[in-house]
Order: sequence, then structure tokens, then C-alpha cells
Amino acid sequence: MNKILVSTDRIKKNYYNKDKKLMVLDDVSINIKTGDLVALIGPSGSGKSSLLHILGLIEKPTSGKIKLFGEDLNKLSNKEKDIIKQKKISIIFQNNNLLEDFTALENILMPLIIRGENIKISRTKANKFLKLVKLEMRSNHFPSELSGGEQQRVAIARALIKKPILLLADEPTGSLDEKNSDYIIELILSLSKKNKTTSVIATHNLDIIKKLDISFKIEKGKLIEFKK
Ligand code: ADP
Ligand code: MG
Repeated sequence: MNKILVSTDRIKKNYYNKDKKLMVLDDVSINIKTGDLVALIGPSGSGKSSLLHILGLIEKPTSGKIKLFGEDLNKLSNKEKDIIKQKKISIIFQNNNLLEDFTALENILMPLIIRGENIKISRTKANKFLKLVKLEMRSNHFPSELSGGEQQRVAIARALIKKPILLLADEPTGSLDEKNSDYIIELILSLSKKNKTTSVIATHNLDIIKKLDISFKIEKGKLIEFKK
């Protein structure tokens, strides 16, 4: 049996706006095994992005415990968490989060440069991933010179080039037309399977949900396994 790669124990996430408390995640416990392909579903505003950001170490939960790759996050320093983020996790953000001052190609090779890989080899790899998302003709375009769907594909290539242990994808095909969406989701899933990447994909797309192993739904702060 595969071992547990990600586990949360009763995490809560509250946001505060003025004095009003908004409870977004309420005692969320989840276990994800190595290699699992997981769908995260739920209506807009239900907390999918919040949960992905917490699992990706971008945000902290208000309370509760998280274990990633066998490590209790409460026991790690910020530096240790930064190293995990650099080496093991990729996030495809809902709003893409591309670096505006860098071209499509540079955005894709950035994660490799940050973790100290050779620039020439990284550039070759980035060109390969640019081709995989069918954007070789946009290599030198800045994000502002790309359509929403093209930006999303750059963000996907930037996440996949890392060969992460954990991929967190936040509505990764939300800006794509059906044909591109099918192609990109096949690319994400085939690379996840090949590299044994554990992937959590927030999506509203039923076709994507059908292709994944397990689905979890967030509703009113609670996470429940969703039977297909
Ligand atoms: P989803 O991704 O499922 O659409 P989110 O996790 O983005 O949901 O947001 C969940 C809820 O939390 C939303 O109602 C949103 O308005 C609120 N929210 C998200 N981020 C913040 C924040 N930084 N401050 C206050 N409220 C927030
Ligand atoms: Mg969201």
C-alpha cells in the first residue's frame, strides 16, 4: 500500500474582515497517499484555493496540524519550509501569478534557476516544456502580451518543469477552451503518472473529475469524500 504523503488533522482557516470572522475551513482532515490523483470540488468561495494554499505552504491554517512528506510542519523552520516549497511542491495558481517582467520562457525556467540548476540545461528544458504546452511561438512574449489561456499554459509548464512530488493545481484549465483543456489535463495527468507526482486539482469540470482517483468536496467548511 502506498504511504500517506499529505495529511491534515482538523485544520481550521478563518479570515477576518473588519471585525467579522469568516470560517472557511472547519476541522478539515484529509489523507492523501503517494501517487493519488485527487479532485477538490465545491462551489466558488467554498475554500478550495485556501486549502491548496495551505497545503502549498503559501498560507498558514488558523489551527490544526499538517504533515507533508512525513514532516510535521509545526516543527519546521521557515527556511526548511522554503526548501520543501522549492524542491518538492508546484502550485498552479488560479490567477497564474506569472512574473510580469519576464518572458514566457523565463517564467518557465525560473523554478530551476531558483533551485540552482545549470542555466543552459534549464533553458533547454524550458523550451521543451514551452513546446509541450504548444507555446513555442510565444517564447519571448511577456505575460501582458499573452492571452489568459496562454498565460495559464505558461503557469502549467512552470509547475510541471519542476517534476514536483506534490502538484497543487487551482482550476488549471479555467481559462482554456475545451480542446486545449482536454489536451492540458491529459498532459498534467500523464506527467503525474510518469513522475509518480501526487496531484490535487481544484476543478468544476466533470470530465476532469472522472479521470481522477478520488474526489473531495468542500461545503460549509467541511471536507467530505465525494462519491462519483
Ligand atoms: P474557492 O477557491 O473555493 O472559490 P477561496 O478559498 O478562494 O474559495 O475563498 C473562500 C472564502 O474566503 C471566500 O468567501 C473568500 O471571499 C474568502 N477569502 C479568501 N481569501 C481571503 C482573505 N485574504 N481575506 C478575507 N477573506 C478571504
Ligand atoms: Mg479558488
